[in-house]
Amino acid sequence: MRNVKPYKYVIVGGGLAGGHAAGAIRQVDSAGPLILVTQEPWKPYQRPPLSKAYLQGKAGRDKVFFRDPEFYQQNEIQVLTGVRATVLEPENHVLSLGDGRLLSYEKLLLATGGTAWRLPIPGNDLQRVFTLRTIEDSEGIRAAAGPGKRALVLGGSFIGSEVAASLAMLGTEVTLAFRDSRVLESLAPPELSEALHALYDKHGVRILPGTVARSLEGDRAVRRALLENDELLEIDLVVMGTGIRLNTGLAREAGLEMGERDAVMVDEHLRTSNPDVYAAGDIASWPDPTFGRRRVEHWDVAKNQGQRAGRNMAGEEEPYTTLPYFFSDIFDLSFEVWGNLASWQRVVLRGDLDEGSFAFYYFDADGRLTGVLASERPDEERKPMQALVRQRPTYDQVGEELRSERTDLRDLL
Ligand SMILES: Cc1cc2nc3c(=O)[nH]c(=O)nc-3n(C[C@H](O)[C@H](O)[C@H](O)COP(=O)(O)OP(=O)(O)OC[C@H]3O[C@@H](n4cnc5c(N)ncnc54)[C@H](O)[C@@H]3O)c2cc1C
Repeated sequence: MRNVKPYKYVIVGGGLAGGHAAGAIRQVDSAGPLILVTQEPWKPYQRPPLSKAYLQGKAGRDKVFFRDPEFYQQNEIQVLTGVRATVLEPENHVLSLGDGRLLSYEKLLLATGGTAWRLPIPGNDLQRVFTLRTIEDSEGIRAAAGPGKRALVLGGSFIGSEVAASLAMLGTEVTLAFRDSRVLESLAPPELSEALHALYDKHGVRILPGTVARSLEGDRAVRRALLENDELLEIDLVVMGTGIRLNTGLAREAGLEMGERDAVMVDEHLRTSNPDVYAAGDIASWPDPTFGRRRVEHWDVAKNQGQRAGRNMAGEEEPYTTLPYFFSDIFDLSFEVWGNLASWQRVVLRGDLDEGSFAFYYFDADGRLTGVLASERPDEERKPMQALVRQRPTYDQVGEELRSERTDLRDLL
């Protein structure tokens, strides 16, 4: 006989999705025994400040943790930190933990997120070669950076572009190198990337498109980087912003249905192929009602899916329909995105990039609106902007009108 501790709800993962699921379960069921298991030594926390205000030293840990420490105890949510979930047996409703404990559940949530990926190049394990996913990573980078230090940041997507800005703000001499021809190439139109390059230039960040490191050198800590363009850089630290690998081994080995890039397949209620196991956040591929099946690695999706999964685990039966959204901050430029910018063909600019108040409306290969990227637009545009993305009108229907600031967006709905 195995010694199994019974719970009504088990959550695996203490990121945004797991943490929000715990709170959401309690909104529906105030008493069912609930435990959250996370391998990190921390209570649930959010990651965006780790590349922005927390890395810059402008925000403390209180901005990283999204709940007061008392919240969990007050709501009878047991949080087990520093413990890894190792085996899921859906047929027995049992989860094994790395410390030997066994938990049984009625409903279980997988919210295991991702692990930062290291470029497989010589020297990638030297000291002061960082990736950025955890509080410890952010603190390590901050300690290694600052005036008189030279950093090489690899990767021109979100993490790389934000870290390069934050390190420069800490007084570090920064080189930002990436494989693409411009920063944020997949989602930013060329004129926005150009504006970002000018912003980096103004803050003394050197941009090196079209090249990454071939190898890193040093005795114990990194000292030099040999780039693919044959340049040899003297450096004190490296940050790799080169993507994540999903933590979905538990789901795969449990026999759950998996999708592209190791995603966990869920239905519109965020339920996996096993009806008592849910998944949310970075790992979940769900049928989005506006854009079809997709998986998104963003804060808002993790938060809202965690909440919806939690409420559904506790007895509700609502589909997840939130329009995907994300945000980014690079120096003093903040922008927000609604929709799906995975594939687009043309954009319409509303507003003025130089003035700092602008919105790019993206149209896909079929000419349909697929998303909007906006910065400092008037508040009254926020709601119609999202409604338009949900409606997905064609370029022929709205393209020219969108361009003119005299058009009231509500008239296009
Ligand atoms: C530095 C940084 C900045 C970001 N900035 C933005 C931003 O500005 N805007 C935006 O929209 N998005 C941003 N993101 C993305 C956003 O943070 C993620 O989409 C979000 O964290 C996903 O949440 P999650 O709960 O799905 O996974 P995670 O946050 O990865 O949490 C998963 C947790 O589960 C744990 N875990 C995994 N496997 C196990 C196991 N077997 N047992 C126990 N625990 C386990 C992990 O260690 C981790 O603690 C940023 C991400 C990073 C890293």
